[in-house]
Amino acid sequence: MDRPKEVDAKLSASKMEAASRCSAYFQANHKFAWKGDRDSASEGTIRHDHEENQTPLDEIDDDERRKCAYRCREALNEIREKVSKATGCEGELAEREIRLWYGGSWSGQLDYVERFGVDVLVADYKTLHGSHTPAPTNIQLLAQAVLMKHNYPDTNNVYACLIEPFNDPTYTTVMYPSEYLLEKAKWLEEVVENSYAKNPERVFGSKQCKWCSALYVCPEARSHLISCLNKK
Ligand code: SF4
Repeated sequence: MDRPKEVDAKLSASKMEAASRCSAYFQANHKFAWKGDRDSASEGTIRHDHEENQTPLDEIDDDERRKCAYRCREALNEIREKVSKATGCEGELAEREIRLWYGGSWSGQLDYVERFGVDVLVADYKTLHGSHTPAPTNIQLLAQAVLMKHNYPDTNNVYACLIEPFNDPTYTTVMYPSEYLLEKAKWLEEVVENSYAKNPERVFGSKQCKWCSALYVCPEARSHLISCLNKK
C-alpha cells in the first residue's frame, strides 16, 4: 500500500540518521527518483506484514520468510520477558505498526509498542539479511522512542530493541531514560529544521549517500570521488 502523501512530505524516523549526517538528504531524495530496484523493500514489507498480522507459521509457505517470522517472535518474547523483569510489570496494550507524529513536523511508524506500567517497549524489525547499527547507537530507534515520549508525556523509561532475525545476536537493546529523550527531542528538532531549510548543507558519507537517490548528480559525492581518484 502506498504511504499517504503527508507522510512522504515530511521526514520520518527511518530517515533521521541520514538526515542527521547530511542536511540535504531529505530534499535531495524528494527531488530525484530512486534509480535502483525495490525488490528488497518489497520483500521486507511482506515479512513485516507477517509480523503485523501474526500470520501462523504453518501458513507461511516460503522457508526463509517462515524462519524470519519464527526468529522475530522468539526474540520479541525474550525481550518482553526481560522488560517485564526489569520493570516488575506485565506487558499490556500491545500495538503494531502505529504511526506517531512529532507535531506536524516529522513522523515514524513503530513496528511494535507495548506498555509495562509507566515504561514502554518499542521494537523495530530488520527482516532482511545485512547488518544494521545496533540498538544503543541506532538513531531510527532513538527517534521512535522520542515519538513515544512526545505523544505520551507520562512515559518514563523507553526500552527499545532492534530485532535482526538473520544476525547473531538476533536482537540488541537499549534503555532510554525520560530526561535523555527530552534532550534528544531537541536535537532532532534541529536536525529537522536544518533538513527543511533553504539550501541545506551537503555532507558526503557512506552511511547517508548509500541510499540517497541524488547520489548520481550530487556535486559533493562527485568531488569526493575525484579526490579519491587523484590520490592514486
Ligand atoms: S549524495 Fe550524499 S552528500 Fe549528496 S545529498 Fe545525498 S546524502 Fe547528501
